[in-house]
Amino acid sequence: MVTYFKEIATAAINTFKGLGVTLRYLFKPAVTVQYPAEKLVPFERFRGALLFDAETCIACNLCVKACPSSCIALENATNEAKKKIAKVAWYSIDFGKCNFCRLCEEACPTKPKAVWHSLDYELVFENRDEMVRLWKKNFDFVGMFFDRKSKEYKKPAGQIPIQTVAARR
Ligand code: SF4
Ligand code: SF4
Repeated sequence: MVTYFKEIATAAINTFKGLGVTLRYLFKPAVTVQYPAEKLVPFERFRGALLFDAETCIACNLCVKACPSSCIALENATNEAKKKIAKVAWYSIDFGKCNFCRLCEEACPTKPKAVWHSLDYELVFENRDEMVRLWKKNFDFVGMFFDRKSKEYKKPAGQIPIQTVAARR
């Protein structure tokens, strides 16, 4: 009988202890965010989706050599105007192979960087085509992908807006 009441008392004490913890946190500010309605901005050094600027790139190939995953490819544009600084005809990164190591960004000699990690962490791919991001002159920093079914360039869907251009070094 004594054990029975002891157990009831212990259970009651533990319940009040639990409620005490709940009560303590009830008046503290929330640390969780209501994702996806609310989104946190990562730290400046965060390595999100790579962005590329075809206007800044001098087609030096340093990022291609630095990449340990061999996921960058580019082709030099024909320098018809005989300008000293070369430009790219196209530039591509295969996100299916990329390990987000930042070596390409570090190797890039331009100021600001022609290739750089954004703060975008919501990369979603529905097929292999979407993983191969392509840039040409007049494409924006996010780039396009080539859809082999419809045989046309398409904008990648599901990537958050570029909140990152300011973070470009
Ligand atoms: S982040 Fe690393 S793996 Fe990805 S493209 Fe750059 S160098 Fe290659
Ligand atoms: S992105 Fe930078 S490192 Fe790569 S080819 Fe262009 S200028 Fe050179």
